[in-house]
Amino acid sequence: MEVPPLTTQQPEAGGLENLLHETRTFPPDPAFVAAANYGPSLYDDASADRLGFWAKQARELISWRTPFTQTLDWSDAPVARWFADGTLNAAYNAVDRHVEAGRGDHVAIHFEGEPGDSRTVTYADLQRDVARAANALAALGVGKGDRVVIYLPMLVESVVAMLACARIGAPHSVVFGGFSADALRSRIADAEASLVITADGGYRRGVPSALKPAVDEALTGEGTETVKHVLVVRRTGQETAWTEGRDVWWHDALESADTFHEPVWVDAEHPLFILYTSGTTGKPKGILHTTGGYLTQAAYTHRVVFDLKDDDVFWCTADIGWVTGHSYVVYGPLTNGGTQILYEGTPDTPHRGRWWEIIEKHKVSILYTAPTAIRTFMKWGDDVPAQYDLTSLRVLGSVGESINPEAWIWYRRVIGRDTTPIVDTWWQTETGAIMITPLAGITATKPGSAQVPVPGISADVVDDEAHPVPNGGGGYLVLTEPWPAMLRGIWGDRQRYEDTYWSRFRGLYFAGDGAKKDEDGDIWLLGRVDDVMNVSGHRLSTTEIESALVSHDVVAEAAVVGASDDTTGQAVVAFVILLGEHAERAATPEGRTAVEAELRDHVAKEIGPIAKPKRILVVPELPKTRSGKIMRRLLRDVAENRAVGDSTTLADASVMDLITAGLGTGS
Ligand code: ATP
Ligand code: MG
Repeated sequence: MEVPPLTTQQPEAGGLENLLHETRTFPPDPAFVAAANYGPSLYDDASADRLGFWAKQARELISWRTPFTQTLDWSDAPVARWFADGTLNAAYNAVDRHVEAGRGDHVAIHFEGEPGDSRTVTYADLQRDVARAANALAALGVGKGDRVVIYLPMLVESVVAMLACARIGAPHSVVFGGFSADALRSRIADAEASLVITADGGYRRGVPSALKPAVDEALTGEGTETVKHVLVVRRTGQETAWTEGRDVWWHDALESADTFHEPVWVDAEHPLFILYTSGTTGKPKGILHTTGGYLTQAAYTHRVVFDLKDDDVFWCTADIGWVTGHSYVVYGPLTNGGTQILYEGTPDTPHRGRWWEIIEKHKVSILYTAPTAIRTFMKWGDDVPAQYDLTSLRVLGSVGESINPEAWIWYRRVIGRDTTPIVDTWWQTETGAIMITPLAGITATKPGSAQVPVPGISADVVDDEAHPVPNGGGGYLVLTEPWPAMLRGIWGDRQRYEDTYWSRFRGLYFAGDGAKKDEDGDIWLLGRVDDVMNVSGHRLSTTEIESALVSHDVVAEAAVVGASDDTTGQAVVAFVILLGEHAERAATPEGRTAVEAELRDHVAKEIGPIAKPKRILVVPELPKTRSGKIMRRLLRDVAENRAVGDSTTLADASVMDLITAGLGTGS
């Protein structure tokens, strides 16, 4: 009999090959452990009585108007109801109760504007502004259940706007301030919003950048007739076109509003917000979150993952247009009564030390950011952060993508003085809050691994038949039990909700990510299942090959895709950004060939010959979403010589032109 060709060879069931061998571990510092809020017994408490554990968190961390008696109702699965007979208000939890407890003078937010203006906002200030804004929204006819779209830069008013919506029971839908008029229009239409809150503009790289024109344009588009008013925050003072009767200045509306507002008490399952996903893999989905369960898990994870203490100064650098901004700029930190930083601008304005300057100024103790930012700082060099006093930092966090071990090590060494724990937190817009992560002060960390579900969460890695893979195996990440902050659906589309997340494996939530378990049973995320490559029957992970490339001295960033190939089914194509002087070396054809050969050998050495990229393309930039994630599907279009697909959620639309132009004919 003939030997079957390589391409039809079956991969191991559900198998993603386990290739990258990263074995470093970092136990927590004994002094940190001694002072930590929690110990390993938290895991035992949660597993002894999972639902009882969540009920206890909900009672301890959240103030209920009417106490709940029921923890989980799963009778309408896969739509969960948590704490359903309780009533509460999210804004009351985030603001008023801290003032009532005598902490009105405590700083809620240290705001840093990009041009250098700053502002300190206490909980009492926040209470006054949120109450006024709530009255102003009500005066504009917005009531319980009405949707409000928020399209703002990172301002104190943005947090106030979100909380004012929560206070009157009007679900907000925050749309990232950098999105186009069309992206805004489609979200307004999908949510059938009755109000849009925006600003004249915001500061971006040292210049005022207008926002209101995008709203005006969006509102001429189809499906936006539901919008009655536009509330406009004055930030830049730039000239702004005005539609009389429709547009209202935020400061005018607040000035005339009363500073007393009785919160609208809502059921635990009342919608708190709709948020559209990043669109990394396709058309964004309107993810629906409700109040009680979401707030419980946001507050709980913010406390346990980062070992939060009363005197911490927390900084999550995510934009509020992204779920991380919802849970770890607004709802988690404020529900916990903490102090935090809100920064309007970009990390390199007016200089590349801006973040470190802010950390030094406010003695930030916990920093939570994304791998894309960390890799950018690596590129800029160690000498930038070295000019600032970063000794206040005691916990570092990462979110958004797998963090390559090399970036992790740099983060810990250069920013964390080789001592701070790093928590690599895996979660999604859909999960609402952190799901898989080491806990600061408890877990011995491993660079590149999100490791273990947080106490109370049940996750696993399964094969094609939904059987858990053994340690050392790879497959699909699933969540095996409902969790409090889980999405309650896709806005207006229950069928799409069931199809997207619950149809792949019966009774299991399919996250869409590939993962493996190491010999200790710790979880490593391997990238989107949509991005997994199949080379000669071997299923290879984008994350592992990218990590191998980034571990080479000349590479600043890498993105890997599989492109169809006549002989191997798919071939590995790598897009790399080289570090300064190496980019110059690669500018000549000979230099480029040499660099490519070095990188191929390096991948072969780190991972194995099967993972060697067939093509390596040196590019000046990589296409990223607004939340900083690489959009591999666009690179796949380039690698396969196709017209580039939908790029509306790209941070910078010109990047694709830059890439295709630089590559000439595309090879
Ligand atoms: P869309 O669903 O529209 O394609 P998206 O998945 O990028 O967009 P988000 O909900 O913002 O939208 O991102 C969640 C995804 O980000 C996860 O499914 C995972 O792929 C990735 N991710 C987040 N944190 C981590 C992490 N710590 N390690 C690995 N991957 C992560
Ligand atoms: Mg997703």
